[in-house]
Amino acid sequence: MPYITKNNARNIEFQVNQSRIERIALDDLYKLSLWMLTKKEQQWLAAARAFYENPEFYINHIYQKIEKPDNSRLVYTGGKPAYHDSRDCEALKRDYVNYEIPVEIEGRGEREIHAFREWWKAEEKLLLSNPSRFVDRMSIHWRLKNPPDLRAISADNSGVAVVENFDVAAVEAEIDNLLNAMNEIRRANPTLIQEFGKRTFAVQRGKISIANEEDRATLNDWDKKKSTLKEKLRLFFQLRFNPDLELDSSLLDALGFKRCSSCHGGDLLLPP
Ligand SMILES: [Zn+2]
Repeated sequence: MPYITKNNARNIEFQVNQSRIERIALDDLYKLSLWMLTKKEQQWLAAARAFYENPEFYINHIYQKIEKPDNSRLVYTGGKPAYHDSRDCEALKRDYVNYEIPVEIEGRGEREIHAFREWWKAEEKLLLSNPSRFVDRMSIHWRLKNPPDLRAISADNSGVAVVENFDVAAVEAEIDNLLNAMNEIRRANPTLIQEFGKRTFAVQRGKISIANEEDRATLNDWDKKKSTLKEKLRLFFQLRFNPDLELDSSLLDALGFKRCSSCHGGDLLLPP
């Protein structure tokens, strides 16, 4: 079965039809109670779980394509995402990395941004073979006063689970530890967590002000722990149900993916 990158998987995971996810049962989302998350947060997680557990069901009953506006901050945009026949495909590895367009270029407007992207594509070989020469050439060609550091402008570089070699039992243990820690915090601050635990978003935005400094710190920490919990649960569902991010090519075709031209070829050896 073909492979996709983690970024592309996450992109699919976040495109849901709101009214459809409200119908997903949440009872057995995780073996322990996720009382600290709102119903909506749990529904989003349930949708992610459905995607890894039963992609066909997810795509037919939960998924809704969301057209994203052109993100002018990044070098590679638009175009169809690709799926790969080989996990060793160079293009698959390249899919992990994107770059931010240098601020100087961005400030020059749409036309320059477009020209910069075209230039980048034309010079891509140099980027791979000699990154520092690539940056030199970029600075000269675009008369940059502050040439960027490639590492500093690399974005979207989340990698892929199989490469990072995550262990599902280890991730599960981390989740359980985190839930224990959160239960402890609630025991120590019952009123604070009861009242504001699910509204830390508003606290962070300054819409709710918390006078006591210690309480504020507790809620900040609570907010971080909730984010970590959600991210780890998504990873857990992926590792448990589809660790290699393998998906049926007919589903990927339906999602608008194209077959990678670099590693596609195995099929040519099959008899017609
Ligand atoms: Zn490929």
